[in-house]
Amino acid sequence: RIKDKGSNTYSLYAPAMNMKGIERLQLENGLRHALERDEFVLYYQPRINIETGQIIGMEALLRWKHPELGLVPPGAFIPIAEETGLIVPIGDWVLRTALRQNKAWQDAGYPHMTVAVNLSPRQFMRQGLVETVAREVRETGLHPSDLELEITESMTMHDVDYTIGLLEEMSKMGVQISIDDFGTGYSSLSYLKHFPISTLKIDQSFVRGLVGDPYHAAIVTTVIHLAQNLRLKVVAEGVETEEQFRYLRDHRCDELQGFLFSRPVPAEEFEELLRGNVMYEVS
Ligand code: C2E
Ligand code: MG
Ligand code: MG
Ligand code: MG
Repeated sequence: RIKDKGSNTYSLYAPAMNMKGIERLQLENGLRHALERDEFVLYYQPRINIETGQIIGMEALLRWKHPELGLVPPGAFIPIAEETGLIVPIGDWVLRTALRQNKAWQDAGYPHMTVAVNLSPRQFMRQGLVETVAREVRETGLHPSDLELEITESMTMHDVDYTIGLLEEMSKMGVQISIDDFGTGYSSLSYLKHFPISTLKIDQSFVRGLVGDPYHAAIVTTVIHLAQNLRLKVVAEGVETEEQFRYLRDHRCDELQGFLFSRPVPAEEFEELLRGNVMYEVS
């Protein structure tokens, strides 16, 4: 959609559109071979217990090492993978890789952690998701509760009966479920109560506005209270400043994730964080 923002917008916009079209084609073609060419890599971002400052888990975040374009962020290719259906085999690779990495860290003697893996709408609706997750967990030899699947509100509301059935099977298996980007999508609070989920992740847009914007602060506090009342864990995403950290600690958020502690990093770098283990001293 072309927006008329100023007199020279049009002439700048037209070549950019062509570039976008070419880039999109280049990405789509490359994506078809990226798995077999071993071009994907997982980065890990620590999740931290707010009371102890300890790393208690990590989110696996996908990166694509494109031979010409370099490291491509998920925002640039997950939507294409989703549209083309390639997300299903890619998602299976993410799940298997994240589980194996978590097992490797356990075997190396680090404390047990939960690895969180993002699911896209297509992965959530695919046939055989429960069986795939069950098989991968079993084959890695991890405890099912060492895996958490991140879904979004809109996915849960698309077909509520399906969602309840699926989440109940996951829950029976012992796999944890969290609602990612909570507060940005549409979900019904009355359903939320019936979904067997373990965690709410407050979207980073609210955390960003936390200090200085009463509206965002109110949303964050409300989500924390909601989680407490529903007996759910609550995680703040995108924590970047000391002020945000203090606010979240004062309001009894459970866990933190954000650049203030660490960006998502490759496995070797994450292991260095694990050796240090405590991300901040408790005062
Ligand atoms: P998400 O699941 O909400 O992941 C959090 C995003 O916030 C990550 O971006 C992370 O790098 C970024 N982030 C974390 N802390 C901070 C902070 O303090 N400040 C700022 N500005 N950003 C922060 P990333 O890695 O680019 O991922 C973007 C989205 O792509 C993810 O959002 C998720 O929806 C999707 N995604 C990533 N990996 C996968 C995957 O393996 N499968 C699927 N289906 N989606 C994925
Ligand atoms: Mg996520
Ligand atoms: Mg997300
Ligand atoms: Mg998120």
